Amino acid sequence: MATRQRPGASRDVRMRGFAERADVEDVERFLAGRTLPLGAESVPLLECAGRVLAGGIVSEVDVPGFARSAMDGYAVRGEDTFGASDYDPLSLEVIGVALPGRPFDGEMGVQQAVRIMTGAPVPAGADAVVMAEVCEEQGGRVVVSEPVAPRKNVGVRGEDIRAGSAVLPSGRRLRPQDAGLLASIGIADVACVRRPRVRLVITGDELLAPGETPSGARIVDSNSVVLRALVERDGGVCLPYEILPDVPERISAALAEPGADVVLVSGGSSVGQEDHAPRLVAELGTLDFHGVAMRPSSPTGVGRLPGERFVFLLPGNPVSCLCAYEFFAGPTLRRLGGRSAEWPHRRVRLPLARKISSAIGRVDYVRVAVEDGQVVPLATSGASILSSTVRATGAVIVPRGLEGMPDGAEVEVLLYDSESVEGPL
Ligand code: AMP
Ligand code: MG
Repeated sequence: MATRQRPGASRDVRMRGFAERADVEDVERFLAGRTLPLGAESVPLLECAGRVLAGGIVSEVDVPGFARSAMDGYAVRGEDTFGASDYDPLSLEVIGVALPGRPFDGEMGVQQAVRIMTGAPVPAGADAVVMAEVCEEQGGRVVVSEPVAPRKNVGVRGEDIRAGSAVLPSGRRLRPQDAGLLASIGIADVACVRRPRVRLVITGDELLAPGETPSGARIVDSNSVVLRALVERDGGVCLPYEILPDVPERISAALAEPGADVVLVSGGSSVGQEDHAPRLVAELGTLDFHGVAMRPSSPTGVGRLPGERFVFLLPGNPVSCLCAYEFFAGPTLRRLGGRSAEWPHRRVRLPLARKISSAIGRVDYVRVAVEDGQVVPLATSGASILSSTVRATGAVIVPRGLEGMPDGAEVEVLLYDSESVEGPL
C-alpha cells in the first residue's frame, strides 16, 4: 500500500514526490470496512422527510380508528334497501347527520337512515352507505332508488393501518408520503440516523472568499462552494469554517478542533513546499493513504484524526477536489448517514464517439458530453479547468485494468443532473 504510515509517523514527503500510489479500490475498501452509520437523534416530524430511519416503526393504533364512510350519502342497513329500484324506490326515516369529526351519537334502527359525509364515522346499527346520487331527501325521509350491499362504501376500522403492524423498516430514507404516514399514526418525533457533521478546512494563501472578485495573483475559493453542495447532497451538515493561509499551526488547530465527524481539507495535499496537511495529519493521527493511482486527484490523502474521525486531503485543483470527494468522501458521508454508499448519479449506457486513453494501473475520471446519443470526451480536461465539469453532461470512470476505451465502445455515464437528459440524447 502506498505510503501507509503508523500513528504519529511524520515522514515529510514535501518536494520528493510520491514513491508509490495506492489503488482506488484499496482506499475504497479501507473506508468501507471502517464506516458504520452514526447514532440516532430525534427529529421533529415536519423535518423528517429525506432523513434515514434509525429503527423500524410499528403502529400502536388503527387508522382509521373507526368505521368511516367512503361516500357522501346515507348510512343504512344494507338489507333495508334490498329490492329498491327506479320504479320501486324505498323510503327510510332520516334520524340525523354524521359529519367528519362529528359523529351521530345514537343507534340506528330498522328502516332508518343517517345523512353522512365522506370520512364521517358510520353510526352504530348501519352497515352500508348508499351514495347521494341515488337518493332524494324530503320531509325527514330519504327515497332510495338502488340497493346497497352490507359493507359497501364503508371503510373498516384499521383498513389503512392496523395496530401492531410494521409500517416502515429501519434504514428507510423517508419519502414525503412516509412522513405523512408517520403523522397519521400519531408520531411527533422520529428517531433518525444523525447527519454527519463536516468541517471544511480550506487552505491556500492565494484564496479570496466566495463572493469576492478575483484580482492580481489571487483566486476565489470555489472548492468550498462545491464541497458544501456535495455534502448537502450526501446528507451531511457543514460546520462554520474559514479560509486558512498555508500556515501549519493554523491548519493543525483546525484539524484538532472537535465537533466534526469528518474533516475535508482542500488544498495543500500534495508534495509541494506549502503542502503541510499530510504531515500534520500524520502527527495528529494516522495518514493511512497519501497518493492514489487515479487521474485527476492523485495527490489525495486519507487519514484518521483522534476520535475516529476521517480526514480527506483533497487536492486544491477544482476538478481534483470534486473527483476525490466523489470517490472517497462522498461514500463515507453517505454510509455514516445510513444511506447507500453507491454514487447517487443516474446512469446511462451509450457508445463512445471518440476513444479515451488511460493507463493500466490507474483509474480515470473523464468528463464527457452526451451529444446525439454518443459520449464525447471533453478535450480541455486538466484538473484545474473547473469549467470542464460545467460543460460536461457527466463523467465516465475508466477502471484500473484498462488502457483506455476504444471509440464505439458502450460506456456508462454518471450523469451530473438528476432530471431527464432529453435533448442531447
Ligand atoms: P494545491 O492543492 O494547494 O497545490 O492547489 C492546486 C491548485 O488549486 C492551485 O492552482 C490552487 O490555487 C488551486 N486551489 C487551491 N485551493 C483552491 C480553492 N479552494 N478553490 C479553487 N482553487 C483552489
Ligand atoms: Mg496550495
